[in-house]
Amino acid sequence: MLRAYFVQEFNEPDGHAVIAENAREAKQIAYASGDFYCEWIEMRVKWMRNANIDGLEKGIVRDCLDALRREIYAFIEAGHYPCDVCGCQGELHGFKGKALCTKCYDEAV
Ligand SMILES: [Zn+2]
Repeated sequence: MLRAYFVQEFNEPDGHAVIAENAREAKQIAYASGDFYCEWIEMRVKWMRNANIDGLEKGIVRDCLDALRREIYAFIEAGHYPCDVCGCQGELHGFKGKALCTKCYDEAV
């Protein structure tokens, strides 16, 4: 069964959303991408158990906004995309298929 994982370097907020069978495979896919400039043992894998992976195939999810809306990313830094509700360019959080700024997120939960 496929699951969603967030793979990152220790102490780095950025990472990859990876769809894989298990944590080890997710780490292997991320490592093989060549996007990480660290050692294997410095990579951390987190199972994003609330993520919606409907329609996704095994591999890296390159669409950051999609990954956020699916709750594979925990957040996206401010200034990249507008909030789905108010349109501001604040830090975004995924919630039930939407990308919400901190203010809209607090009102939605
Ligand atoms: Zn908002």
